[in-house]
Amino acid sequence: MLLDLDQGRLWVFLIGLGLFAFLEVWWPAGRRLSPRGPRWLRHGLLAAFNTLIVRTLVFVPLLLWMVWLEEQGWGLVRWVGLVGIPELIFSVLLLDAFDYLWHRANHRVPFLWRFHKVHHSDNALDVTTALRFHPGELLLSGLAKAGWLAVLGPTPVAWFLFEALVSASAQFHHADLRLAPRLERALRWLWVTPTFHGAHHLVDRRWGDRNFSTLVPWWDGLFGTFEAPPAPAYYAEVPAPLGLPEGRAQADHPATLLLGPFRGLNQRGMRHFSSAVEE
Ligand SMILES: [Zn+2]
Repeated sequence: MLLDLDQGRLWVFLIGLGLFAFLEVWWPAGRRLSPRGPRWLRHGLLAAFNTLIVRTLVFVPLLLWMVWLEEQGWGLVRWVGLVGIPELIFSVLLLDAFDYLWHRANHRVPFLWRFHKVHHSDNALDVTTALRFHPGELLLSGLAKAGWLAVLGPTPVAWFLFEALVSASAQFHHADLRLAPRLERALRWLWVTPTFHGAHHLVDRRWGDRNFSTLVPWWDGLFGTFEAPPAPAYYAEVPAPLGLPEGRAQADHPATLLLGPFRGLNQRGMRHFSSAVEE
């Protein structure tokens, strides 16, 4: 069954990637700002490299870990005795809440920020930004998730469902996609939209250190980190609205993408970043 679930998740990823890539050609929001080809090549190669690492070092160990936790009867879900649809809803929501806290920690803890910064150094936004993560961030998040799985104890079905939703949602909210304004404002109450998450990628820290949610946007409301996104015109008015204030020219260099967290620009992590913003 685990293999079927894994295949299902892979299909969700591939269909989502194709669908949002197609939609952003027809309804672009105009935030891509750089040629499509090199972005697909750069982020595609990074994703292929990450897949190799994550499958062996994170995915398989996490599955074995979940099977072991199930045998031990560990976790909130099992202690409460939740099963079926209620278990799926409860587990997915609590996994999403954990993702919110983890994402926030990635911005607050200098060591974590070194890695998460690679994702934020993208000077544009489109569906391929959802592929742009440093392998170190994925390994660290795998470790954090292992701890949370032990506390929560979701079923493998809930976990795969959550992972598939995160994959599709990340493709959607990074996509350079223009939704009808009324639809977008309505949807923003239920789900993280491209406008909601686009604000999180703005250089301006008024927005850049807000809106951390992944699936449902409620966590930002609940924990006081929601900031209403600027109007779409903002992206055309500000010369370089997306990414980080420093190191813009080198942001996409393969050495920066892979070695950035360990040297040069990123050496001082968040402190360097904060001081660059305050200056
Ligand atoms: Zn972030």
